[in-house]
Amino acid sequence: IEARSVHQIQSGQVITDLCSVAKELVENSLDAGATSIEVRFKNNGLDLIEVQDNGGGISPENYENVALKHYTSKLSSYDDLTTLHTFGFRGEALSSLCALADFHVVTAQAHQAPKANRLDFEVSGKLQKTQIVAGQKGTTASVGGIFKRLPVRRRELEKNIKREYGKVLNLLHAYACISTGVRFSVRNTVGKTKNVVVFSTNNNPTTKENIANVYGAKTLSALIPLDLELEFEPSHAMRRIESDGQSNKIQVRGHISRPVFGEGRQTPDRQLLFVNSRPCGLPQIAKAFNEVYKSFNVSQSPFIFADFRMDTNAYDVNVSPDKRTILLHDAAALIESLKTSL
Ligand code: ADP
Ligand code: MG
Repeated sequence: IEARSVHQIQSGQVITDLCSVAKELVENSLDAGATSIEVRFKNNGLDLIEVQDNGGGISPENYENVALKHYTSKLSSYDDLTTLHTFGFRGEALSSLCALADFHVVTAQAHQAPKANRLDFEVSGKLQKTQIVAGQKGTTASVGGIFKRLPVRRRELEKNIKREYGKVLNLLHAYACISTGVRFSVRNTVGKTKNVVVFSTNNNPTTKENIANVYGAKTLSALIPLDLELEFEPSHAMRRIESDGQSNKIQVRGHISRPVFGEGRQTPDRQLLFVNSRPCGLPQIAKAFNEVYKSFNVSQSPFIFADFRMDTNAYDVNVSPDKRTILLHDAAALIESLKTSL
């Protein structure tokens, strides 16, 4: 009993809210090489969050392990921890979902389709049973009744579901816009309404077309390209870490709203930030953009879609178990340089 509650508490740190459920499942789909990802909600995610992809599927020899704590098929050496190329590497998401929700997976590799395997797991993450069902190549992960075993958090979620659902949509906008060559679609069924498509993208080759699909052509027409090269001296701390002693070079690529001076038109904040294509909340950086716009008397806060491309040594995604907090080693210098360039 004790081991079980420890697992639940730890799981609650990996999966903290609806956003972390969607994030973990979508990242698994992207890691699996999917070109089509459908996210389905029932009652804004309270009843069900389900992510279906057409990726490589789970190989049968991994069925026993996939939901065990710290099982990952992605990390092949310790070095990979610092130079990360997949989203996942901790092997904690599926195990945590087993502890917190009704979780199952349906998966098929190319050679198995149109037969697939449904995998059901125990709360501990141990494989409970497998069952042959119909299914195409890819994986569908289903999360029902999230937080049912953490009653306080479940009640909190129910109380704030509108806001939480809004946050999860923003996060999915970010994945959909940055993922070129991936068809994304998001559906929500509330009450008796059937499968309402919330938004979708079309397997576009550019982020620009993704943005047009998600936010509409009107938003797109108000955007200008963002293309900056930031270069600054590494701080003392970084100089000690870096063996090659080169200065920091960061490219910023994306789209930003054309400033409209003096006019009172307000657009809702739409600010998507990425580090090496990984969506992340970088409030200090968003603030820097907003301050520059303000300093030029631009009344509305800008639409920002900005991917900061930098050496993988320049940041740390290991700050929190949910990997949503990114620590930029030279945040202050980066922000100064960004403001000057903007
Ligand atoms: P991580 O992503 O850190 O490896 P997870 O707990 O998210 O850990 O997933 C565990 C393992 O399950 C992955 O390493 C992968 O092998 C497999 N897996 C999970 N989701 C998918 C998916 N959508 N397609 C293929 N394999 C998956
Ligand atoms: Mg994962």
